[in-house]
Amino acid sequence: MKCYFCAFETETGVLVCSACSRDIVAPASVIAERDDLVRKLASAREELLRTKEEIKALTRRGEGGEG
Ligand SMILES: [Zn+2]
Repeated sequence: MKCYFCAFETETGVLVCSACSRDIVAPASVIAERDDLVRKLASAREELLRTKEEIKALTRRGEGGEG
């Protein structure tokens, strides 16, 4: 199985990751919470990209067109 923290491939049955020394056996609720955070992070990144593009478009308009 893979470590949830560093993605190190550990032997099945071990309780602690040999790479980062963290507990591998995580409760399902923690894993669900982590998945939710990953999804939120992805959508936040998309929004940030959209905003950056908007700013770029606005800045270009302010400069008086493309060169
Ligand atoms: Zn690890």
